[in-house]
Amino acid sequence: MPHTADEIELMLLGTGTSAGVPMIGCHCAVCESADPHDKRSRPSALVSYDGVRILIDTSPELRLQCIANHIDMIDAVVFTHAHADHVMGLDDVRRFNAMSKRSLDIWANEQTHAALERCFGYAFLPPGEGPKVFRPMLVKRVIEGPFEIGSQAWTPVPLIHGEWNVLGFRIGRLAYCTDVSRIPDKSWDLLRDLDVLVLDALQPRPHPQHFSLDEAVEAAQRIGARQTLFTHITHYLPHAETNARLPPGIRLGFDGERVVVKP
Ligand SMILES: [Zn+2]
Ligand SMILES: [Zn+2]
Ligand SMILES: [Zn+2]
Repeated sequence: MPHTADEIELMLLGTGTSAGVPMIGCHCAVCESADPHDKRSRPSALVSYDGVRILIDTSPELRLQCIANHIDMIDAVVFTHAHADHVMGLDDVRRFNAMSKRSLDIWANEQTHAALERCFGYAFLPPGEGPKVFRPMLVKRVIEGPFEIGSQAWTPVPLIHGEWNVLGFRIGRLAYCTDVSRIPDKSWDLLRDLDVLVLDALQPRPHPQHFSLDEAVEAAQRIGARQTLFTHITHYLPHAETNARLPPGIRLGFDGERVVVKP
């Protein structure tokens, strides 16, 4: 983990769509592929800099993702939106509370907090309140505009995800934009001069809630980050074959991939 403010590390913990790859009951070539890059757990990422580690989303595979990637501590969680594939691992952060003996800041907009409250209300109760069980100790932090975690500012990037409004995030010259079917006019400016962009690219066919591969390439080229990594990927995109035909500087990410960005 970078311990200075002049480096931001991004680790992709999960690059799969909501069903994951392999999918339950599917025996296609990608679901049965021997290439480890074709194993995609549900979408989440870890951003580290200057001694702090921040999870973006808590996928249902959070526990396995932390173990696989030797993530022994986190300092905060930031949520893009409250769909099940992005939030259902939240209970697992109780291990971090137990080890650090501290509560964890949970950053999300009001709409996402309302959904978190319905599923995980017990985890936001003040210490000493609620049932005496091994539970997460969480502190609600509301995203209303740019906010700071440690030495870096996080800028929310409003995105359209089908009928939902969700958030991407920009941290220095890094941006993480999962679950997007359209980038609103005002958000393009927030994505200028990027070193690394992570962007939704679901599948070859168009989809009402996600960029298709062609739409993602078009958006990535307009944004013009030095490097673009695609995420939220279905079993319709074999890793090696797809990467071989993507333009330079644009490729599918994979679970466990790390990139370092200069802020
Ligand atoms: Zn999703
Ligand atoms: Zn399949
Ligand atoms: Zn979603």
